Amino acid sequence: MKAFYAEEQKSHDPKAFLSSGAPQPNPEKPERVERLLAGARSAGLTIERPKNHGLGPIAAVHTPEYLDFLEHIFARWQRIEGASAEVIPNIHPIARNGSYPASAVGQAGYHMADTACPISAETWNSALWSAWSAVEAAEAVMAGAPSAYALCRPPGHHAFADVAGGFCFINNSAVAAQVLRKNASRVAILDVDLHHGNGTQGIFYARPDVLTVSLHADPVRFYPFFWGHADERGEGAGLGYNLNLPLARKSGDAAFLEALATAFWRIHAFAPEALVVALGLDAFEGDPFGGLSVTTPGFSRIGEAIAGLGLPTVIVQEGGYLCDALGDNLTAFLTGFGGKQR
Ligand SMILES: [Zn+2]
Repeated sequence: MKAFYAEEQKSHDPKAFLSSGAPQPNPEKPERVERLLAGARSAGLTIERPKNHGLGPIAAVHTPEYLDFLEHIFARWQRIEGASAEVIPNIHPIARNGSYPASAVGQAGYHMADTACPISAETWNSALWSAWSAVEAAEAVMAGAPSAYALCRPPGHHAFADVAGGFCFINNSAVAAQVLRKNASRVAILDVDLHHGNGTQGIFYARPDVLTVSLHADPVRFYPFFWGHADERGEGAGLGYNLNLPLARKSGDAAFLEALATAFWRIHAFAPEALVVALGLDAFEGDPFGGLSVTTPGFSRIGEAIAGLGLPTVIVQEGGYLCDALGDNLTAFLTGFGGKQR
């Protein structure tokens, strides 16, 4: 299996992060890349650099207004006297159907869901290359590869069509799914990150051609709180094409695999022609976010189970934070999935 990654993805280095209101170091560190690269190599994958795919595949799932914001907000922020070093919002609209503000501060609140996605000088470029890794992986699968891995960092699944959030700016999994739609009439996205893939859900919520399925810690007491509940099933033509499978915290491998079986039942019924796996590794028992107590052998079983679907598959890296087993967990998933054989 080929893996895609560009060095520019490492230059984004967010500093600010608020945890229960308290300033903490941002956990989405560039060092994650080293661990994940090592994990991919251990599974026998070869790492290739993606091409520059331009804005086209990104603009297919994000609004022009939002992309313009991401590209220019850092420079605009520097012109505000006394502003923070990174772009961090401090006011948000309660509803998003009102006026669009002209000010940088107002737009930051409009386009950023929380304080976990600070924007610095390198963010836009890193996010672009992260998305292009996803595009390249999707194109490899469209060209006949049974699967491909995109080492996407910064991650993407909390990014909506026009909102950043939770360390995410461009929704790489959504970009990959939309690229796959050129050849596949139906694409499923299976999100196994600890956190609900709220941005991905939002992007495809009213569409019947992309099924979104997410397994995650129950948001009733966990980020992202306002999305990820079992009664969110899609809307309009997309009603029934979103499935949320919230799990109790610390529920372990068996509960995760059981929920995965439910996900597969829905995916089978949808009969997709291609699959995107939004691969978070933060469900791990030793992850700093506490997780769902999934073990390293558990990731191998999850990979094996997903491979059993037999679908052309793009694996897109989402979360998974610094801990001793981060690379091993990726190796376990990829090896279980089929590693270099696929
Ligand atoms: Zn996560």
